[in-house]
Formats: sequence, C-alpha cells, structure tokens
Amino acid sequence: MKRIAVVEDEALMREELQSILEKAGYETEAVCDFTDPAAYLLDRSPDLVLLDLNLPGAGGFQICRDIKQKSAIPVLVLTSRDQMKDELTALNLGADEYLTKPCRRERLLARISNVLKRYEGRTNLLEGNGFLLDRQTYTMYINGQSVILPKNQGKLLEAFLVRDGRTATRQDLCRALWGTDEFIDENALQVNLTRLKKTMAGLGMKMHIEAVRGIGHRLADKGGEQ
Ligand code: CA
Repeated sequence: MKRIAVVEDEALMREELQSILEKAGYETEAVCDFTDPAAYLLDRSPDLVLLDLNLPGAGGFQICRDIKQKSAIPVLVLTSRDQMKDELTALNLGADEYLTKPCRRERLLARISNVLKRYEGRTNLLEGNGFLLDRQTYTMYINGQSVILPKNQGKLLEAFLVRDGRTATRQDLCRALWGTDEFIDENALQVNLTRLKKTMAGLGMKMHIEAVRGIGHRLADKGGEQ
C-alpha cells in the first residue's frame, strides 16, 4: 500500500485529506510537528508528500527544497496560494505537482495517482550527497537538472555509491568497468577515473573521488572528514 505523508498545519483540513486518501486506499501519516519536518520526512521516506505551503517554522518551500535535494520522494503541493510566482517557485524547487485549494477530491486523487505512476520506474536510484544516480540509464539528477553520464563514468560512480563511502579496490573498479578483474589495466582505469573526476568537478558536486593509498578509491564529501 502506498504511504502518503500529509504536511498540513490546519487540523480540520489535515483530517479531511487523510480521510479522502484513506478511502482511496492509501496509507497516510500526518506531520504535525514543524520543528524540522524535512528531516522527519526524509527519515520516514513516504511514497509521496502532500505539502501545504503556509506552515509554521521554515514553511513549505524550504521543506520542498530539502526533500528534493536529498531524495527522490515525489512532492505534491496543495496550497491556498494561487499566485503564479508561488507555483513557479515550487516547481523550480522540484515540486512534481501544484494544486490550489479548494481542490476537488477527484482532481487531487488523479494527480496523486499520476505522480506515483511517474515514479514507479524510478526505484533504480542511488543516492549521494546532493545528487541521485539512475543505475540503469546512468542519468544523474543534480541541482534540479539531469545529466546523462558516459557509460564508463556511470559504472564507476555506481560502484562507489553502492559502497556508501567505503573504499573500492582497483579490482572492484575493474569488475565494474569491464566485468572482470583478471587483469588490471592501470592506465585505462586511471583514464576513466580522471574523466569522472572532471565531470564531477564541472558539475560543482559536493562529493569527490579520493585515492586511498595502496587500496583504491572512494567517494567522499569534499572538505575533509564528515
Ligand atoms: Ca497552512
């Protein structure tokens, strides 16, 4: 059952939304504590976030930005703000849909169902600090844009991401690139690593590849131990 988080500070509206969603077969959970809702949502990792904009604390735009920078969770904004500039701001921050209140139940459910369908093929995403990598197409999602990596760079980045900060040995990297580690072509490996490093630097990424002496390489946050 798909799980939808309802981020709405008005209790009546929140209950009504939950009731609509539950009758339509969704599991729901409400966010009522607005201290750090983005962190809570990232931790809970629902299938979709239904997000109000006028909220106590940092507000809906900030929540949208935080979720979209750190995850591939779909966000549907449902707000009483009907200004074009608000809609554009939300969409620029990565919101997947923007609906204004009052919203007909059928419309809301149709949009939710659309967004969920759009995301269904997207379980192949690996997550790094500030970006996502689709391991099937080697498409990288970063800073609101998508970049298709050359296959070898994608394979290397995937090999680093699945290790989640642990060091990938030269054998690991050769296996990722060529499907075998029987012989290690140090030069070819270096060429591919250099290309990936250059791509990452060009995108201004928060992570980089660092050498681990005598062992291999790993993906780490820039600027020291974190
Ligand atoms: Ca509100």
